[in-house]
Amino acid sequence: MNDATKARLQALQPELVAIRRDIHAHPEIGMEEVRTSALVAETLKGWGLQVTEGVGKYGVVATLKGRRPGQRAIGLRADMDALAITEATGLPHASRNPGLMHACGHDGHTTMLLGAAKMLVDDPDFGGTVHFIFQPAEEGRGGAKAMIADGLFERFPVDAVYGLHNQPGRPLGSFSIRPGPAMAAGDRWVVTFRGTGGHGGASPHLATDVTVLQAQFILALQTVVARNVAAVDAAVISVGAIHGGSLLSTNVMPSEVVIGGTARSFTEAVRDTMERRMRELATGLAASFGCTAEVEYNRRGTALANHAEQTEVAVQAATAVAGPERVDGHAGLITGGEDFSLMLQVRPGAFMFMGIGAGGPSSEALHTPTYDFNDDAIPLGIAYWLSLVEQELASGAG
Ligand SMILES: [Zn+2]
Ligand SMILES: [Zn+2]
Repeated sequence: MNDATKARLQALQPELVAIRRDIHAHPEIGMEEVRTSALVAETLKGWGLQVTEGVGKYGVVATLKGRRPGQRAIGLRADMDALAITEATGLPHASRNPGLMHACGHDGHTTMLLGAAKMLVDDPDFGGTVHFIFQPAEEGRGGAKAMIADGLFERFPVDAVYGLHNQPGRPLGSFSIRPGPAMAAGDRWVVTFRGTGGHGGASPHLATDVTVLQAQFILALQTVVARNVAAVDAAVISVGAIHGGSLLSTNVMPSEVVIGGTARSFTEAVRDTMERRMRELATGLAASFGCTAEVEYNRRGTALANHAEQTEVAVQAATAVAGPERVDGHAGLITGGEDFSLMLQVRPGAFMFMGIGAGGPSSEALHTPTYDFNDDAIPLGIAYWLSLVEQELASGAG
């Protein structure tokens, strides 16, 4: 990056910090990003970009042609949605929407892509087209799917598509990625056990007891990863919710217990195994206790797999910004899920992680009430986007 670009990034920073904190203070859950998408669209229009709204409900796409000749086009994607978490940072820009929070840094992602659009519209020194894709509803609410279904890549054709996610607790401005499978498919499952219930305090022998059954089931679930998934494969099954009975009548055995959780995998074979074993354990154990089980297993998204060629481009782009010692091109698997995986199924591309520093809220884990995106990372993320455009579209060839 030359000194002029650095100076422009520095000059832009106060405006971008204000935007980031404004978005942070007004989080919206997926597919309800009314304010956020309007803010994004109006900001882009104000800067002179060509903007298309309502792509996949609240998706926004800004399009910019370079001043040099070129036929190639790339998509740069950020997500805009927040999570149903009550913020506990106590920061001045903390969430003003009760129960909602930007705990995954999508406020930062949106701001960094806005910044890249501003930098490029002011100096479109490239050949070809950049589509800035602002996606709603990444957090399990179908935003990528909705945009693709709404003709994203037909209306805005791209040769490659790139994503960027922050990584708290890692050195500020360090980058990591891996070719091939990189992030997990995060499936959602719910098991409902039904029995007779009854007067547990006095006559448990007259009832079928789903509380004992659910306890056995949760323990048995632990054997799926330990005993059914090969040691060289990775998987996670976790219980996130257990509901049954009433604390107002603790002498009554409930007739129904509902257990829900997540199951993560990196390959379809492991995913098949997890679903099959979950069904076998739930129905088999239920039968042995004289109860019934209903299993809902929802496959959500797919494991994210980076394309080799675009991963290499992304590594080059990051290296130009951060230097080779701060770029890991063969990072470990991440058990988090990400619906950018769907875009990578229809277009070649790569999903990069960027460290946002250690210490303070930027070293708290994603999806926790004390996390906050680090504003110092904004210029570094923009620099990565600019570097990527230079890698992909500088020659003006194609
Ligand atoms: Zn997230
Ligand atoms: Zn995220």
